[in-house]
Amino acid sequence: MFKRKWFILLTVMYMLFIGVQGVHALEQNQLPNIKILATGGTIAGSAPTNTKMTGYTVGEIRIQTLINAVPAIRQYANVSGEQIANIGSNDMTDEVWLKLAKRTNELLADPKINGVVITHGTDTLEETAYFLNLVVKSDKPVVLVGAMRPATAISADGPVNLLNAVRLAASKSAAGQGVLVAMNDEINGARDVTKTNTSHVSTFKAPELGYLGYFNDGEPYFYRKVTRKHTKDTEFDVRNLTELPDVEIIYTHVNENRALIDAAVAAGARGIVYAGSGMGSIHRNAEPALVDAQKKGVVIVRSSRTGNGIVTPSSAQWTAEHFLDGDNLNPQKARVLLQLALTKTTDLAEIQRMFNEY
Ligand code: GLU
Repeated sequence: MFKRKWFILLTVMYMLFIGVQGVHALEQNQLPNIKILATGGTIAGSAPTNTKMTGYTVGEIRIQTLINAVPAIRQYANVSGEQIANIGSNDMTDEVWLKLAKRTNELLADPKINGVVITHGTDTLEETAYFLNLVVKSDKPVVLVGAMRPATAISADGPVNLLNAVRLAASKSAAGQGVLVAMNDEINGARDVTKTNTSHVSTFKAPELGYLGYFNDGEPYFYRKVTRKHTKDTEFDVRNLTELPDVEIIYTHVNENRALIDAAVAAGARGIVYAGSGMGSIHRNAEPALVDAQKKGVVIVRSSRTGNGIVTPSSAQWTAEHFLDGDNLNPQKARVLLQLALTKTTDLAEIQRMFNEY
């Protein structure tokens, strides 16, 4: 009798144990599935000593090692990594962009995938973010993340940035916000964010317009929404593209001459973003070259080297010369939009409309 009681008690306890394990497994399975696409950069960088913050080798560490270094990630998402490239983002190319965009679209079309995180060097992270913001065809979260200190550094910022990025990609609040950047406990929108400092961890800012939200204890909080069209509301589709049109940036300065503009045209540029002074002002030595380029079918967009503010049709002459206005996109982002615009049309009114919309 006594033995039987013990048998029943042990059986019940065993069943309870199995039940708890089952619930636990179920909870695990209910975690969002996040794919991490790795492209390299400082977040995957390695230095000979932990006090070395510059002069290290970027893109040394592969994605699985980065994920393994932050076990806490697994509390918030089922993550798996995929290596798209392992380069410094100063070497980013259209080829890697197209591969990244196509893979991101493929993954997000899978109902089992809830979001994508992309690890990236910080130098051109803003351009990749804006490119993806215009070509990803999904409402699901896409979050770019990098680091300013190599993975081997004392107080490396990569692990916490990666954890935040995964939590953001796993969060319902990030859906429909366009491509996001998670760095330094802040959430920025792809269109407005830019790298503002060569070395500080607080380098990513959206000058004037501000970030969309921030992380508190790793939890993302949003306070603003992006107003410009993005992701699945854009007209751009890279599915069948194998290359992007060549667009060059010409940066004005005192005593500018026309040599670089002529060289860009001779090299086959289909568009030129002119990083003008002030409100996209053009040097009188450069203007005839831009007019000649425009007459040959090269699309000219005026932008500004100031880093802030809007470029509008500020001169009747430049408008008459058919130069377009880059709104408040910085030159490198105006270049991205012009590349994509040229995949659709060369009609100037249409391209100006795109600059007003995106
Ligand atoms: N130049 C490298 C890159 O953009 C390192 C910069 C960084 O990731 O912070 O990948």
